[in-house]
Amino acid sequence: MNRLSIALVHYPCVDAQGDIYATAITNMDIHDISRSARTYDLATYYVITPLASQRELAETIKKHWCESEKRQQTDRAQALSLLRVCSSLEDAVEIERQTAQAEPYLLATSAKLNEPNISFANARVKIKNQPSSILILGTGHGLAESVLSRAHEILEPIYGKSDYNHLSVRSAAAILIDRLA
Ligand code: SAM
Repeated sequence: MNRLSIALVHYPCVDAQGDIYATAITNMDIHDISRSARTYDLATYYVITPLASQRELAETIKKHWCESEKRQQTDRAQALSLLRVCSSLEDAVEIERQTAQAEPYLLATSAKLNEPNISFANARVKIKNQPSSILILGTGHGLAESVLSRAHEILEPIYGKSDYNHLSVRSAAAILIDRLA
């Protein structure tokens, strides 16, 4: 088994002041990242929030596409079928543990350069040799330190051709998945 999944973390993330907070789920993140995940045949797209109302929102979006007669055969439904809504990263880890019967390799991401970090090339090799890996993305101003230190490794940032580095999480997800999968 060689599963690569992606997790979008809405808590704990940091705000502009570096304080820990929970961000809101956005419809675009649900749709766009599930389409990228489906395009590269990822195993699961975990959307993570401890807020029940936010989990309901994500589940409603999935139901709208995946459980309606006329929409369930659409391309969009195929992408959204990868969606798993969880209360915490640990819930997603447990699902992967059960599914792969192995501890998932956790790879955190950030626009900031964290030391040590793993290169895309080395991360690709790592992922290929694991039964299960989870690529962890943040929202707001990024993943909280507790998530970065929970991960086995932090991936080197995506660098463009300028010092402007403010990708949306949807764009970052697409680039990261393309480079890793
Ligand atoms: N300043 C934040 C940071 O350092 O991560 C950017 C937050 S961005 C809106 C949300 C998420 O997209 C980040 O937590 C990360 O997962 C991903 N991301 C954004 N830019 C990235 C980059 N250049 N390299 C890697 N991941 C990036």
